[in-house]
Amino acid sequence: MSFEDHLSISIGDHILHRARWNMRQPLIAGNWKMNKTATEGQVLAQAIRLGLQTSVVEVVLCPPFPVIPIVHATLQGSSIRLGAQNVHWEDAGAFTGEVSPVMLKEWCQYVIIGHSERRQYFREDDEMIRRKVLAALRHGLIPILCVGETLAQREAGETEGVVTAQTRRALEGLTPEQATRVVIAYEPVWAIGTGRAANGADAEKVIQRWVRGTLEELFGPAVAQQMRILYGGSVTPENITEFICRPAIDGALVGGASLRAETFLGIIHETARVKA
Ligand code: PEP
Repeated sequence: MSFEDHLSISIGDHILHRARWNMRQPLIAGNWKMNKTATEGQVLAQAIRLGLQTSVVEVVLCPPFPVIPIVHATLQGSSIRLGAQNVHWEDAGAFTGEVSPVMLKEWCQYVIIGHSERRQYFREDDEMIRRKVLAALRHGLIPILCVGETLAQREAGETEGVVTAQTRRALEGLTPEQATRVVIAYEPVWAIGTGRAANGADAEKVIQRWVRGTLEELFGPAVAQQMRILYGGSVTPENITEFICRPAIDGALVGGASLRAETFLGIIHETARVKA
């Protein structure tokens, strides 16, 4: 008999739901995008390290590639994790300008894959993203897979189709064990960097029905329940509660507000307060 079977018999469905939710550690990841020099990155990472007052939330910083080593040194001995913003699918070779998972794994635990800016400006398609997810997993990196619809797709009523297809195409063929190591960030493209965050109830609906629903179809309910799903798009200390008060939402991928220690820490500490 599994741990969950025991739980469902002894404490009933409502509490089981909470137990499942609590099994997923909340995660707040900061995507610095193409911002911060090495010197600036060191100052920011140090301020976040010194200001962090919780162990409830897993915290991940994702600086640009050249800033990763100095942030790595700054975070030595702390619980804060390091992530990259992209990765190539090959281990090595003639791919000028690219960075491989073999190189990243010396420094990072996480890597963002399929961010909408990479899909839009660098023509990354679902097949490239699938290969990157597999490459990351092969080398023990945790992918933070980004999915989300554009404004035009949303207005055309295509959110469900886009989000389920992106999720399915990126993860098809993974074993259930591999799937449990993946984090997904639902990031509606129209909410990224615009100051116009999604409505919490809408984000929850997309995450619960279409992202976790697709994960259930691919890997079964037990695996889908273990996988963390974040919201991303104009998250601030003022609006984070709107998202993380919802059991389906396990944290946030934060862009602009991760560039200042005060705002990033505000988001982390509010998440810890709500999810504790
Ligand atoms: C992002 O870059 O993933 C993001 C969500 O950015 P912002 O928080 O600035 O909207």
